[in-house]
This record gives sequence, structure tokens and C-alpha cells, in this order.
Amino acid sequence: MSYDLIVIGGGSGGIACARRAAEYGAKVLLIEKNKLGGTCVNVGCVPKKVMFNAAHTLDVVKKAEDYGFNVAPSPDFDFSKLKAKRDAYIERLNGIYAKNLNNSKVEVIEATAEFVDAKTVKAGDKIYTAKYIVVATGGHPIKPEVPGQELGDTSDDFFNWESLPESVVIVGGGYIGVELAGVLNTLGAKVTVVCRGDRLLRSFDKQISEKLDQQMTAQGIEVCYNCKIQSVSKSKEQYSLQLLDKTITAQKLLWCTGRIPNLKALKLESTKITTNSKGYVSVDDQQEAAEKGIFALGDIIGEVELTPVAIATGRKLSDRLFGDKKHKQDFNNVPTVVFSHPPIGVVGLTQEQAEAEFGKEQIKVYTSEFVNMYYAMSENKQKTFMKLVCAGSDEKVVGLHMIGDSCDEMLQGFAVAVKMGAKKSDFDQTVAIHPTAAEELVTMR
Ligand SMILES: Cc1cc2nc3c(=O)[nH]c(=O)nc-3n(C[C@H](O)[C@H](O)[C@H](O)COP(=O)(O)OP(=O)(O)OC[C@H]3O[C@@H](n4cnc5c(N)ncnc54)[C@H](O)[C@@H]3O)c2cc1C
Repeated sequence: MSYDLIVIGGGSGGIACARRAAEYGAKVLLIEKNKLGGTCVNVGCVPKKVMFNAAHTLDVVKKAEDYGFNVAPSPDFDFSKLKAKRDAYIERLNGIYAKNLNNSKVEVIEATAEFVDAKTVKAGDKIYTAKYIVVATGGHPIKPEVPGQELGDTSDDFFNWESLPESVVIVGGGYIGVELAGVLNTLGAKVTVVCRGDRLLRSFDKQISEKLDQQMTAQGIEVCYNCKIQSVSKSKEQYSLQLLDKTITAQKLLWCTGRIPNLKALKLESTKITTNSKGYVSVDDQQEAAEKGIFALGDIIGEVELTPVAIATGRKLSDRLFGDKKHKQDFNNVPTVVFSHPPIGVVGLTQEQAEAEFGKEQIKVYTSEFVNMYYAMSENKQKTFMKLVCAGSDEKVVGLHMIGDSCDEMLQGFAVAVKMGAKKSDFDQTVAIHPTAAEELVTMR
């Protein structure tokens, strides 16, 4: 069978690319080996946000007392009931994706795809050819090479948990590690986070990492830094993580130690596609790989590993291949939220990156730390921290970083301003909305 476009991978990027191409009238085949929706829908953003919302709901119930509600005794939480509802929601989404692809007239087959040559793909026992082929196969979680690494779970496995463990040790202080730590701790598990380096969220602004450490520690999460794991063992229901200087035990062990691209099954050696030093598919700024006519996008290229980036890149690619648009994906100033407790919102450069790019003397930093009015009735006064990194004499805002309640929802609008090149004076001239936490971003001095 011959197509205009074959898309390998039915996740965020692949589905978006396939549907947009079909809207232009292209004959499109999408090959997905697993469930439609990919990482985001099945073992990523969506189930993660459901768990974040569950934890947030409990947080609010706990705070209700401060506002005069009598909520004692504390509410019962049925983990398996939530999981069943979450699974049903995801199944509905899988169905919606299938329906939308069908409505767009994209042909879908369930199989693992591999390259036969630059124009030919094998899926199951069938051979398909196309003018263009898009690789959007995403990635999967990995565990570090330590004795006993086969023990314990990854984030994929976490979404199969049927009950809340009493204690969890999470290895990894990246965004998935801190998000799951916040959820599990809030829901009532004793959580220890083990980091290889000396800070959480290594690629984020240093102050944000510090504030997150303070908040997590205040919430009772133990965070250990500069840890070198010697081995892992399991006895009965207890995991033991042997570090150089101590042993950490917990009922569950969760590896949040990074992800690698799904390349192996693709048999890229049948093509001229190359990978970079980190193992991601190398592409030019049009998403084209070293083999002409083959494109790659989403997590597989390791640029910015987020769902909206994969979607936007996929749509733009189809606009170029089958429409008359010339636009390409810009990977700068992509807003990012970490659904930690409390959430983090960032866009643009960290202070360290801005100083390296523009020179230290060209950078002016504004910060604000305050108690969100929501906590005015409470003993425990959680702080929000915000930071603007400005460059040059006109103080262009090149970085915006915040951690605190609602920062996740606050970021999108400010990201528009930063993307448009807003200056500090534009922020100053914008009238504050009172009383909100967001107003602090336009009243910094
Ligand atoms: C725990 C977690 C939380 C996350 N939270 C967020 C978040 O809050 N916000 C956000 O923006 N991003 C989040 N992400 C990242 C987001 O999920 C990814 O960036 C996004 O899914 C990437 O889309 P993609 O199309 O590149 O790949 P994927 O969505 O991973 O899709 C790839 C698909 O290809 C299929 N496939 C692989 N190999 C083959 C083959 N040979 N043949 C056929 N099919 C194949 C896979 O089965 C998969 O369905 C999260 C990720 C994780 C793991």
C-alpha cells in the first residue's frame, strides 16, 4: 500500500501531524504499537495531573478548618477508586483519539513499525510505502546501572499502583521525581527523594530549586543530595537502597532517572538517519533527518520534551509538507510548568543562562517573596517566590520564574508577553489585579 505520509507513533506529535496532513487531503497512515495518545495520555501528563488534582483537593480540605469549616475527622481516601476512575477517563480519551483520527480519514493500524528502506516501512507482516515518513516514537523511562536495578518501579509502573504505599523512596530530583514526591507525600506516604547531584530540577533557575527544596522539606519530604547508589535489594515488602553512607528503606521504590528515545525497534540502520551524541534523532530546523523525506519530531529529537511542543511541531510540519505555510517550530521561550507542591512556572532563561548570554553587568534581577493571601487564615504560611530576569538597558524580560500556589495557571498569559519581547516597563505599566498573587509580577521594584 502506498501513502502520501506514514507517521510512526500515535502519541502527541504523531497524531497532530497525521490529522493536519489529512486535513489538507493527504493520504495518511498512522502506525501505533500501543494505546493511542502515547505517553501524555496514558502514562504522562494526563494521569499525572489527575493525581496532582487529587492531592490538591486534599490540601484544600485540610485548609478548610482555617476558614471555619468543621471537617474532622480527616477524609478517607480510596486510592483504588480514584485509579479506576482515572483509568476509565484515559480509556475514554483513547476512544476519542481513535474517533478523531477516523473523522480526519487517517488510517490507523496497531503494530510495531520498522524501516525496510527510506521509503518503506514494515508493520506486522505488511509492507507500506510513502513519499514522506515521520518518526514520532517518543521515549521510555530508564533505570540507572546499579546492582538490583531490576527491582522497583518507573513512572510507567506508578500508574498501575492500586494502593497508596506507606513509604516511598524516589530516585531522581527531576520534574517527574518532584511531581510524584509531592503527590505521594500530600496523599499521606512518607517520601524520601534521592538525588545524584546537589540540587533538585538541575536545569531550572537555582533559586527555584532552593525554594522547592525548602517547601518540600517543610512538608516532611526528606531530600538527600550527592547520593551514590551502591545497590538495591528487596526483602519481603521492603526495598533497601544502599548509599555510600546510609541505607534507605521503603515499601516502594520509584526510579525517576530519565528517559531515552524509542529507537531500537525502528531499525534505523535501514536508512541514512543519524543520531546525536545523546542518542536522539538528528534533524535540521525543518525536522528533516539525514535521510531526505524522513522527518522526526517530539521527544525523539530531545529538543523540548513537552506535549504542546510535539503537537505544534507536528502540525507545522504538515502545514509545510501539504499546505502552503512556511512556518517552523521555535524552541525558545517555551513555557513550562512543574506540577510540584507547590507548582512551578517558568519561561525563558535562568539567571545563570542570561548572565552567560548577555554578560553579568547587562542583567538586572527583580524578585518578590510573599505569603499568598489564601494562607492569611492559617498558621502555616506557605510562601510564593517570583523572579524576573531582565537584560540590557531597556530591561527586556528574558526570564520569568515562579513557585507557589496557582503559578501553574498564572504562567500562560505572562508567557505571551515574554514571547512578544515585553520589557520590565511593560510589566510596570500593566495595572495590577488585586488581591491576587499574580499582581506581584507587575509590581516588582
Ligand atoms: C510522568 C510524565 C509526566 C509528564 N507530564 C507532562 C506535562 O505535564 N506536560 C507536558 O507537556 N508534557 C509532559 N510529559 C511529557 C510528554 O508526555 C511528552 O513530551 C509527549 O508525550 C511526547 O510526545 P511524542 O509524540 O513525542 O511521543 P509519545 O507521546 O511518547 O508517543 C510516541 C508513541 O509512539 C509509539 N511507538 C514507539 N515506537 C513505535 C514503533 N516502532 N512502532 C509504532 N509505534 C511506536 C509509542 O507506543 C507511543 O504511543 C510527561 C511525561 C511523563 C513521562
